[in-house]
Amino acid sequence: MDFLIATHNMKKRAELERILKPIGVRVLLAEEAGVELTDVEETGVTFEENAFLKADSGCKESGMPCIADDSGLAVDALDGAPGVYSARYAGEHGNDEKNNELLLKNLSDIPMDKRTARFVSTVCCCFPDGRHMTVRGECEGKIAFEPAGEGGFGYDPLFLPDEFPGKTMAQLTAEEKDSISHRGKALRLLAKKLEEEQKNKQTDLTAIQKEMEKQLETLREERIRQYEAYAEGMTDQECYLKVKKEINQKIDKIQEKYERLLTITTEDGELMKEIQVVKQEAEQAEVFDKMTRHIAETFIDEVIIYNAEKIEIRFLFDDLIAEMTEKIEREEKEDVAV
Ligand code: IMP
Repeated sequence: MDFLIATHNMKKRAELERILKPIGVRVLLAEEAGVELTDVEETGVTFEENAFLKADSGCKESGMPCIADDSGLAVDALDGAPGVYSARYAGEHGNDEKNNELLLKNLSDIPMDKRTARFVSTVCCCFPDGRHMTVRGECEGKIAFEPAGEGGFGYDPLFLPDEFPGKTMAQLTAEEKDSISHRGKALRLLAKKLEEEQKNKQTDLTAIQKEMEKQLETLREERIRQYEAYAEGMTDQECYLKVKKEINQKIDKIQEKYERLLTITTEDGELMKEIQVVKQEAEQAEVFDKMTRHIAETFIDEVIIYNAEKIEIRFLFDDLIAEMTEKIEREEKEDVAV
């Protein structure tokens, strides 16, 4: 399953891929998916709002499910700053060095026990049918007095995560960072939600399929009953035409509705495997229905009735065929006698 990711940050792309690939999610940058995305202005005042703005715009512009994250650092002694302004804390977007310098300056007289902070990541996934899901992950720690380490990006050299005492985030391996990071937590939550969603959809499809089969079965029964009823007072030709018109129209409508439901459920390109199975079954149902129609057609052709035994699903018309056969045999005997 392919998801567009609304970021140009290759490091974020790598993190997303490491976490989502195991559940069968392939993440594509806009350039990899061959689409062009407008840079969205992050006008939200919360991480959630900004993540939604980016994912929603990416999804609408590409027609693909789109994942976007908004993240940042919240420092308690600075009332949650830099917060949603983390990337442009020192004024210039994405200048990590200047951002880190300003952070150290603003915390210069704050002792270690008051330098508590957390990285926050919200990840939003928008689907072409209008649904969206948002998850949040946090990573608690403290701000160091000086930078250390070469890994990661942004504020990593200044962030001392609680889970790895004495090390900054920039001193962890990629796997260590994923295991505790805000984004790692949010993405694992997203992976779990996407998996649940897939399971629910499977259930949806099975329910749709069962409901359709039930309706078709009812109609087939109704068709047999109508054949029997009409056969009383009509010619075979009239009977066949009436039943064909009324019942087959209903069957076509149900099948149409079923196809539409399948299309709606699969708009986001998910569950192709399951759909194929359901479609095959629907096709088989269609073949079955064609066979019953064929039998119905043979019903008006008295000659073919004699061969009806050879048709496997004859049980549908057993009584009628027996009755007709008897009638024809009787008439033939009478003809011979005459
Ligand atoms: P955005 O989510 O791309 O808007 O990034 C916001 C800013 O938060 C980044 O430019 C970094 O300064 C900071 N940030 C977000 N996640 C991390 C991280 O994992 N490590 C270090 N800094 C981060």
